[in-house]
Amino acid sequence: MLNAKLDVKIEAMSKVRTRFAPSPTGFLHIGGLRTALYAYALAKHDKGDFILRIEDTDQKRQVEGATESLKETLKKFGLAWDEFYTQSERLSLYSEAAKKLVGEGHAFYCQCKPRNAKEGEFSNKLRDPCRDKGYTMGAVRLKVPEGETLSYFDFVHRKEISWSSDTVYDATLLKSDGFPTYHLAVAVDDLDMKVSHILRGHDWLPSTPIHLLVFKYLGGVRPEIGHLTDILSAETGKKLSKRRDSVFVEQFLENGYLPEALLNFVMLLGWAPKDNRELFTLSEFVEHFDMNGFQEANPRFLIDKLDWFNGYYIRQKTDEELLKLLGPFVPKDASEEKLKKVIPLIKDRIKKLSDFESFAGFFFEERSADKKLFGKDYKKHLEKALEAIEKGVLLDQVPKDNNFKVGDFFMDLRIAITGSKFTPPINESIEVLGREEAAERIRKILD
Ligand code: GLU
Repeated sequence: MLNAKLDVKIEAMSKVRTRFAPSPTGFLHIGGLRTALYAYALAKHDKGDFILRIEDTDQKRQVEGATESLKETLKKFGLAWDEFYTQSERLSLYSEAAKKLVGEGHAFYCQCKPRNAKEGEFSNKLRDPCRDKGYTMGAVRLKVPEGETLSYFDFVHRKEISWSSDTVYDATLLKSDGFPTYHLAVAVDDLDMKVSHILRGHDWLPSTPIHLLVFKYLGGVRPEIGHLTDILSAETGKKLSKRRDSVFVEQFLENGYLPEALLNFVMLLGWAPKDNRELFTLSEFVEHFDMNGFQEANPRFLIDKLDWFNGYYIRQKTDEELLKLLGPFVPKDASEEKLKKVIPLIKDRIKKLSDFESFAGFFFEERSADKKLFGKDYKKHLEKALEAIEKGVLLDQVPKDNNFKVGDFFMDLRIAITGSKFTPPINESIEVLGREEAAERIRKILD
């Protein structure tokens, strides 16, 4: 028979509950989107709960509006949360927990002057000078035991990770202003919210031994813990950085990436299915998600791959849908009628909605052609093309009648009319643009 205590443990863990716990210090970045996605899928695959928890106890680092923006961004990706919490509204829980830890001899009050107020740390020594002073007020710090091995099994890396407690410092748990540090708040909340699996970025690994102690001293069922791999920049091979790389999710959306493409791309940054399938909607991903798919190696952020996904998802849209999506990327005065003719011509070619300008801008505004782009016979080509357009003769006939190389002829014609070498098919483009406008553009060049 199970003893009562064990019984409680099993019951508590019978439901998968994960959380995404961003600090509201700015916009969501790619790494955060990936963490949220995996945590969501881990829960939803087992019909569990996904929690959004705002970790705003470091008041100095907060950015106005960040919480709202994080929520909006997650919604755009369909990552709907079942429960929502804000740590600054739960302060009494943390101070009670801190008191309990002091009371039970696992923490102590410290009266050192803040050495680094930003981090809320009070001394740089591994063992704090106040630990045995018996103060009755001040900041609360963890009384790290000597000679213990602290370990856990990481479910992403599928291995045991351990530290000697002799390398773990007496971390601050509660600052003298009554706000908890991340270390205390995270453990209190993960226990209180019955989180079954902690999934977070690799940066948090060094904090884990501190959490292991806090979990142990607070008692209850510790969640499983997994640290995700780092996403590397393809250019530098280093961890993606907010300073060097474009990492903000909203920026990608503004540049014309579709949420479903970005999400599909992110799915495979550190996770892979057994069959190497690549295309997944969110619900398909949830269905196929399996913890064994977490990859060991740090993934690289390959923008060509993202472009490939985006092109794919753009082509899945109806012309009607694209018309709406392209709204922010088309000229202000573009008529819907013309756009409806242009969209089928570019749909297979653009990789981002923002490519509209380079592929189709010429339909709405004359582009000056760089003369250097033309071939040596461009004048002859253009004269004959103009004649044909004026007479209403098929352009395909021109190279045959004049012994021109087909490719060269059409390239010069394309450059004259569009200003670019890469455009939709030129015959169709001339029809949409209007023969008179096309002729006018050629005349200007010949002048
Ligand atoms: N607040 C931490 C962050 O901003 C959460 C880390 C964790 O998930 O434990 O990422």
